[in-house]
Amino acid sequence: MAMRYEQSKEESGELLRLAIPRMARHPAAFSPLSYAVWYEYLAGINRELAEALDAAEADRRPLDDQAVAQLYRSHIEGPQAAVVNRLESGFDGILKNLGAYAAEFGSQASRYDDSLGEAGRKLGEGIDAAGIAELVHRLVEETRSMRGSVTEMEGRLKSSRGEMEGLRQKLASAREEALTDALTGLRNRRGFDLAAADILAGADGAARKCSMLMVDIDHFKRVNDTYGHLFGDKVIRSVGQVLAGCAREQDVVARTGGEEFALLLPASALAVAESLAETVRRRVEQGRIRRLGSEEAIGGITVSLGAAQRLPEEPIERLMGRADEALYASKRAGRNRVSTDRGGPRASAA
Ligand code: GH3
Ligand code: MG
Ligand code: MG
Repeated sequence: MAMRYEQSKEESGELLRLAIPRMARHPAAFSPLSYAVWYEYLAGINRELAEALDAAEADRRPLDDQAVAQLYRSHIEGPQAAVVNRLESGFDGILKNLGAYAAEFGSQASRYDDSLGEAGRKLGEGIDAAGIAELVHRLVEETRSMRGSVTEMEGRLKSSRGEMEGLRQKLASAREEALTDALTGLRNRRGFDLAAADILAGADGAARKCSMLMVDIDHFKRVNDTYGHLFGDKVIRSVGQVLAGCAREQDVVARTGGEEFALLLPASALAVAESLAETVRRRVEQGRIRRLGSEEAIGGITVSLGAAQRLPEEPIERLMGRADEALYASKRAGRNRVSTDRGGPRASAA
């Protein structure tokens, strides 16, 4: 959850100003839940929530505390909590079953043990041939029934193992989903952080030479304002596709914020990163994106990029920070360009 909100102080201040009048129009209290709902809506970071809220407003349905709590539960807290609950109750069920099987099997085994003990005693006391024949007959019967129980127990264990495997797969896909950005299918910020940590923690992690690109769509607010939020989403998706198309297998590509992306290029020197950045810049600039439900194709979408190469032992946050500095240099210099932070003494002193 830590990385859910990426907005800067300025952006979030703007969202705060926008949220208050929206909340004021509805009967719900100005609670943290209500603020979270409006914040995510206005920041454009929660598509399903936005659809639900738009539908409510279109129907002129007033949002009271209960309706807000409902939106919060199903679109903010909900998706992940629901998965966790399902998995927990699945594992609980399996554990309960296994406990019951073990108890049942245990008592059967102890009955069998008693019979064997009793037979031993009888043999010790000395019995006649008919008695022995009867004893053997009974032991054979009980052994057969015991073998039946073992077979049944094996079957039950096997089916529990199958259920466990099913849950394990659900857990793996929930994890995958939690690390993936729904709009672009790229990694989200959490997915990026985990992949980057893995790479830098590898065998040669500390010394590893790698480079970083930060990418931000230019004047994206204007794109949204001119063509609408849905088209804006389409632009984000298509920039994501350009990045995925330019990246090589080992590169980590993520959407780290609204219209911001990050690429970690393991084992790539700065020159490689810069040429990749230039390819991305050019392909985005040349792209045309169709408007929804129309033949009109919009051009002129551009991105600004910042590149930096990792210094020895440099933590990922600092590397990202330097690439981000370079990105802002691109913005200041007029956008639609690539800038580089060479990590000299000036940059590390800053
Ligand atoms: P700059 O060139 O300086 O980057 O200008 P900008 O307008 O792109 O910068 P700014 O960061 O001010 O605006 C980003 C906007 O992106 C604000 C927000 O409304 C919009 N946005 C963020 N996430 C999404 C999203 O998921 N979908 C859409 N359509 N818009 C989003
Ligand atoms: Mg931005
Ligand atoms: Mg931008």
